[in-house]
Amino acid sequence: MNTVAVVGSSVAGWRAAQELREQGFDGRLVIIGAEAHRPYDRPPLSKEFLAGTLQPEDLTLASEQEEADLAAEWRLGTAAVRLDTRRGAVALADGSEVRADGIVLATGSTRLGLPGTEDAPGSHRLGTIDDALALRAEIHAGARVVVVGGGLIGAEIASTCRSLGAEVTLVDAQHLPLARTLGIELAPLCVAQHEDYGVRVRCGTPAARVLSDDRVTGVELADGRVVPADAVVVEVGAEPATRWLRGSGLKLRDGVVTDSGCVTSLPNVVAVGDIARYQPVHRSHTVRSDHWSTAMNQPPIAVRNLLAGRTVAAYTEVPHFWSRQYGSTLQFAGYAGPKDRITIVDGSLKSRRFVATYQRGGRTVAVFAMNSPKQFAAHRRRLSTTLSPPATPIPSR
Ligand SMILES: Cc1cc2nc3c(=O)[nH]c(=O)nc-3n(C[C@H](O)[C@H](O)[C@H](O)COP(=O)(O)OP(=O)(O)OC[C@H]3O[C@@H](n4cnc5c(N)ncnc54)[C@H](O)[C@@H]3O)c2cc1C
Repeated sequence: MNTVAVVGSSVAGWRAAQELREQGFDGRLVIIGAEAHRPYDRPPLSKEFLAGTLQPEDLTLASEQEEADLAAEWRLGTAAVRLDTRRGAVALADGSEVRADGIVLATGSTRLGLPGTEDAPGSHRLGTIDDALALRAEIHAGARVVVVGGGLIGAEIASTCRSLGAEVTLVDAQHLPLARTLGIELAPLCVAQHEDYGVRVRCGTPAARVLSDDRVTGVELADGRVVPADAVVVEVGAEPATRWLRGSGLKLRDGVVTDSGCVTSLPNVVAVGDIARYQPVHRSHTVRSDHWSTAMNQPPIAVRNLLAGRTVAAYTEVPHFWSRQYGSTLQFAGYAGPKDRITIVDGSLKSRRFVATYQRGGRTVAVFAMNSPKQFAAHRRRLSTTLSPPATPIPSR
């Protein structure tokens, strides 16, 4: 293999580039990124960075020395717009083209918005460091902030804005935000946290539109109620950044479909991180795990397979994530479903310090912890052993 192009220059892309060198690839390495910034970490954007306690330089993933050691060609600030797998060519928005015989897809995901809100001043999404800087400039004591979407990131944004003294309202279409992630027994705890910290919760009615004149003035709900706002943050989820791959011949289905080793239908194209819909060895169907740990841990396996020219190793890690809101640390691992039986196995709900397991058919399939990192680590290890197969499996696509 002479040239590898890594498309996407965030966690998964950076890790893949590092792994290529660590695993002995000494050919030409080209890193393509739509953002002009060097690789940086996203999870703090809704937490410490938005709060102003971390600065842009604190988020960088690589030191100058690490970047130099990589000896890569950086093509930043220009998006890939097309992949021609037959010619091994990545076309860029600036009209240029990168030819490569190995390709790592790591273009992550893009935050969704509400229709018609993109250009209204005071209307925000939070996917990039530039988004976070723009939002941070508008959050101050007394500012009326409406957060649309009560998922994990929406909850973190509400929590951080509240910690800065803003008057925060959280709007969500569901009666119980996070019920799909945590289950209906545990989700109320998160709603209670918002209320305890003085966030107004308006759940059960979708936001219809963001109202604006020369800047945002509020959010209109589907039942006609209006929540006034000086700033609105729309956090209604994300979609995998696969549009540029249409027509490439790769299988796209809410992500790029891969086998258990992150290899696509072509052995010289792998996909890692938020964009990858892979086949976990523990499951009968494919999964897209849009969490930081997946973006960190898939690249070593994907790169091994890319350099081998076939799938020789499977990604066996059980998905896990963390969230921090209102001073609480939430951690989750596994594959929860709506019918799982939830049992508190350590601590208590009342103290907001506990570990819960999710059981299906007599097996533990997931674990969730609030403010119990040590206990969570032990349960997660046990879960990984239970769910992982005993030996490296023969992967299937
Ligand atoms: C505000 C926020 C808070 C989060 N908090 C947590 C958390 O607490 N815990 C957790 O587990 N996860 C969290 N996440 C999720 C985590 O950050 C992601 O799972 C992780 O960043 C995924 O890494 P990635 O490299 O796959 O994709 P991304 O980080 O999305 O990076 C993809 C990169 O590719 C670039 N790109 C996109 N399209 C193209 C193109 N066509 N050409 C070239 N480049 C392109 C993008 O500009 C971007 O730089 C959070 C995410 C956000 C946005």
